[in-house]
Amino acid sequence: MTLLSIQNLKAHFHTEDGAVRAVNGVDMDIEEGEKLGLIGETGCGKTVLGLAILRLLSENTTVEGRILYKGQDILTMSDHEIRKIRGKEIAMIFQNPLSSMNPVLTVGTQVAEPVELHQHLKKKDAMQRVIEMLKSVKIPLPQERVKEYPHEFSGGMRQRAMIAMGLICMPSLIIADEPTTGLDVTIQAQIIELMKEVLRDSGTSMLLITHDLTVAAELCDHIAVMYPGEIIEYASVRDLFKDPKHPYTRGFLDSLPDRGLKPIAGISPSLIDLPAGCKFHPRCSLATERCRKERPELIKVGIKHYVRCFLYD
Ligand code: SF4
Repeated sequence: MTLLSIQNLKAHFHTEDGAVRAVNGVDMDIEEGEKLGLIGETGCGKTVLGLAILRLLSENTTVEGRILYKGQDILTMSDHEIRKIRGKEIAMIFQNPLSSMNPVLTVGTQVAEPVELHQHLKKKDAMQRVIEMLKSVKIPLPQERVKEYPHEFSGGMRQRAMIAMGLICMPSLIIADEPTTGLDVTIQAQIIELMKEVLRDSGTSMLLITHDLTVAAELCDHIAVMYPGEIIEYASVRDLFKDPKHPYTRGFLDSLPDRGLKPIAGISPSLIDLPAGCKFHPRCSLATERCRKERPELIKVGIKHYVRCFLYD
């Protein structure tokens, strides 16, 4: 059953330099229990998409389209209704826990906040729940650690605490924004294993936002590839690695260390000055006149495999 359905979503920021078109007509579904990876280069709009789902974008942003959560449009909900969903039904693990956590509050106080707010637990019961949660994300001596401040935690421990905070209300959907970025390889592997375990045990759906295709492949069932503001390919992890269709996806795979580390030629366009037609045409060796003028639609090329490219028209 579909848990979240994003339909023709657009999110544009208004700045002195012009409109920053971060999300431009995204359609995407997340099924119950599904783990979907949203991958793309830095600045392609994927974090904006994640923040739009929770209505956390700044006031200078125009958001259009529909974001249906269990059939209800998040974009038309009252502030009271969205507050009831945020953290309880849909939670977010933000990138960079050191800057996302409050430095003057103990980790225990911060992890307890969602249960105090949504489940109305008394402080003592909430702290007991926090201790159980920190234990489940494998933080040693949780009864002592709850009294410590974020700067007293290592990078890996802070990330574990963020995961605990995201999952403490047992949400239906977790949005994890670059949860392993900035961690060394060993800690990254531990966090991936931990997330696999907790997501499997809880059955929570996940939207994983990452620039790291290998992390997405480890944690997800399907992958949506984003290129300035648009989904340009969607497939199962297996199909994407075995039979990538879009020239950008192929380039992305070729840039992986185990596939030759070949960078994609050119640079991503500015979100203020996007090219006409296919957004990838200035970097695509297969571009034709049509690619420069017309925007390709996302078309079906296999079972749950979609691509936005005229080569498959
Ligand atoms: Fe390349 Fe044209 Fe396909 Fe865009 S539509 S990826 S420019 S071939």
